[in-house]
Amino acid sequence: MINVTRSSMPTIEEYMNEIKDLWDSHWLTNMGAKHRELQAQLEGFLGVPHVVLYTNGHLALENVIAAMNFPRGGEVITTPFTFASTTHAIVRNGLTPIFCDIRADDYTLDPDKLEPLITDKTVAILPVHVYGHLCDVDAIESIAKKHNLKVIYDAAHAFGVTKNGASPAGFGDASMFSFHATKVFNTIEGGAVCFADDSMVQVLNDMKNFGIRGPEDCAYIGGNAKMSEFQAAMGICNLRHLSEEISKRQKVVERYNSELSSISGIKLSAPQDGVKSNYAYFPVVFDGYKYTRDEIFAKLAEQGITARKYFYPLTSDFECYKDFPTAGGDKTPVAKHVAANVLTLPLYADLSLEDVDRICDIIKK
Ligand SMILES: *Cc1c(COP(=O)(O)O)cnc(C)c1O
Repeated sequence: MINVTRSSMPTIEEYMNEIKDLWDSHWLTNMGAKHRELQAQLEGFLGVPHVVLYTNGHLALENVIAAMNFPRGGEVITTPFTFASTTHAIVRNGLTPIFCDIRADDYTLDPDKLEPLITDKTVAILPVHVYGHLCDVDAIESIAKKHNLKVIYDAAHAFGVTKNGASPAGFGDASMFSFHATKVFNTIEGGAVCFADDSMVQVLNDMKNFGIRGPEDCAYIGGNAKMSEFQAAMGICNLRHLSEEISKRQKVVERYNSELSSISGIKLSAPQDGVKSNYAYFPVVFDGYKYTRDEIFAKLAEQGITARKYFYPLTSDFECYKDFPTAGGDKTPVAKHVAANVLTLPLYADLSLEDVDRICDIIKK
């Protein structure tokens, strides 16, 4: 059995050593010492002035959208080629998602299709660095500036990626990272928001703790989205091993590339200029190949190998959005085509090269 992913963990001794302090302090959550330590480490690692930690990436995204105080009914231009979380975070804030098509080469939001979607109700752009492929941030920023729109990046896949040596955490008005168990860097469940605006620090920290500002003061109608000490301790351990994690993934990806890159009808992702990848996913698009995506998915499953139709369906085709005026993948033909033909193959640090060969042999045969 080979699963599509497998969480990387420190040794049990390393984790036990990290959480030992908690038996002395009896401080398990609510921005304790581990939380503050991980936050400081991530501010250094990502090279941004502010990181606010969350119990998961989704609530981080919901909170940062809420913190921007957009008028209800405002429109947010986004991609349908993403995980449910991105679109749900917009809608759960009382905003309307407007779906923009993606580029055929890296599957990120296509800035050339963005401007015609802007109306007097548009308040923000919410692109996704999908698979860790970075969006065309310069083009998006210039459009956002011209129309006075906020840009919030879903950077859930992009932790550990750099462009010309810098992390993507500084792009736009804010970026959300996910530290879910299935991501390149995990805190079991977890997430963070990064941003430059000093005034957002207090707002986000209050919002993730019921909106409580002080013992006798509640400033916002907030929820509860705090990262616990056990999650932060896992993050402190895993951060020590991040570069090893990424280089092990790189070896797996290089093997896949050498096995599959010369086969006609199989489209792999090309490296982006100046970008150092985190090797988070290995998406393959079967376009004109002798077998369809669904046939290969089924063949792999027969042999105990789980690949993922990631991302299919488009979020704009979800049942829960069927009554939305903006629903339906027909308005985003590139995204629809990619969603119908893409498969992400198993990829994790300890996936053996023999297993990669086995997976590639099944695909070839
Ligand atoms: C994982 C993911 C999220 C949500 O993160 P969680 O930490 O699982 O809540 C959001 N967007 C994308 C694109 C993701 O892959």
